[in-house]
Amino acid sequence: NGSPNVLYDALLGSPRDPAKALIRRPDGGEISYGEMIALTGRLANALVALSVEPGDRVAVQVEKSPEALALYLATVRAGAVFLPLNTAYTATEIGYFVGDAAPSLIVCDPRSEKVLHEIDRDAAAALRTLDADGAGSLMDLAAGQPDDFANVPRAAEDLAAILYTSGTTGRSKGAMLSHANLLDNARTLVEAWRFTSDDVLLHALPIYHTHGLFVACNTVMVSGGSMIFLPKFDADAIISHLPDATSMMGVPTFYTRLLPREDFTKPLVAHMRLFTSGSAPLLAETHVEFEERTGHRILERYGMTETNMNTSNPYDGERRAGTVGFPLPGVSLRIAHPETGEELAAGKIGMIEVKGPNVFSGYWRMPEKTASEFRPDGFFITGDLGQIDEDGYVHIVGRQKDLIISGGFNIYPKEIELVLDELDGVAESAVIGVPHPDFGEGVVAVIVPKKGAKLSEDGVKAAIGDRLARFKQPKRVFFADALPRNTMGKVQKNVLRDEHGAEFKETTGA
Ligand code: ATP
Ligand code: MG
Repeated sequence: NGSPNVLYDALLGSPRDPAKALIRRPDGGEISYGEMIALTGRLANALVALSVEPGDRVAVQVEKSPEALALYLATVRAGAVFLPLNTAYTATEIGYFVGDAAPSLIVCDPRSEKVLHEIDRDAAAALRTLDADGAGSLMDLAAGQPDDFANVPRAAEDLAAILYTSGTTGRSKGAMLSHANLLDNARTLVEAWRFTSDDVLLHALPIYHTHGLFVACNTVMVSGGSMIFLPKFDADAIISHLPDATSMMGVPTFYTRLLPREDFTKPLVAHMRLFTSGSAPLLAETHVEFEERTGHRILERYGMTETNMNTSNPYDGERRAGTVGFPLPGVSLRIAHPETGEELAAGKIGMIEVKGPNVFSGYWRMPEKTASEFRPDGFFITGDLGQIDEDGYVHIVGRQKDLIISGGFNIYPKEIELVLDELDGVAESAVIGVPHPDFGEGVVAVIVPKKGAKLSEDGVKAAIGDRLARFKQPKRVFFADALPRNTMGKVQKNVLRDEHGAEFKETTGA
């Protein structure tokens, strides 16, 4: 049909080869582009049958599957706004998002259905499961619908999705993303990372997050390639499907979990053309080890819910460990004074600010928050501190909210973490600031020792004594078996602050 729907038209509007596989299921079945188009047509008709209107929000908390992806595309076809939710959220947590976003339809796990019925007492939203046993699921309803669907016209600036941020630094905010925001980024990535219809992406990321949904799926659909959809990261499954893939997008923990495996070998991945990493910092050590093992250099990049992708290391050219590369084409990125917004000279640490067609239009129903996160000239204040080196590579120094201010000094946790990580017997570390009566904040380190390593607090303190200025040295060092991480592999420093703040207070008498 002729009505323009900016995002859908670019993703599935004119497939080069309808018989080509879009998604391969791990068990061997597949869904072709043509089948996906028909399925999204039936689902879009089902949404309309449930009175979903253009501009309505469709909240979705379902396990990853080709059908779940189809629901995203159907929502876009129906002119509605897709609102995916982390599958780890409890029904009670979902209550917050439902209250905030006021969706007209909630598609959820059968387990959440009952609780949501209670939360959504006004019954403003229809409630369905995607594909549960028994009648009444969305897939059931769709099965009786025609494949054809006249797309609701949507312009570039119309909303395609509201995506809640990961909630690493506080309550999740709903980022409003337009058709153009998402499409521009997909096109940029196809170019930057050379995706073609020959690509088979090994897809093990969740699809409720920007990385797995937009960065991965949109890029593949724009290029006309295929993906192998694994329900979640599992080293065995990755190793058994790598031979059929050409590329993989991952978070750092994918790589740190693959490296110890003896069956993760150079011959296994010799045919691969691309491994990427993002969502959390990739340790330089992992980068180096990966190259030694496989001959491939991981391409690290930097994105966020609000802006899609900001930077990437080059496809050709040096992929520099410990950096997130260069701003992508079309993205303006600057390092600015956190308070004044004044651009800082090269090499200086400051706020990373970005502007471009990738940047969202604002936070859902938070006009004040939105206003405070944008500079008057339209740059978005990311909340990430960074610096640009002499060759133009962007380095992320950490989040501004994790910056420690102790005795009037700015202390960047990453600087201390890098020193700790180099010590013998240290697998990884996290440095946090906890309340301190004299200094404002006190520096505390949490160290995960390597297997079998014997480390002591005094030993660590002595080892770094001459490597860090006194005010940067941790006042306490705690040991842990692992760092608390969310599903995207992000270290949850707020959890560490809660955990160790009290202990710090007790043991130091602070
Ligand atoms: P919230 O905004 O709710 O606190 P969040 O910022 O973790 O949560 P996301 O949008 O999922 O939510 O994550 C974006 C953030 O992830 C970035 O702002 C940055 O801090 C971090 N990040 C992404 N890629 C990288 C990377 N390659 N290296 C270091 N940090 C990264
Ligand atoms: Mg954020």
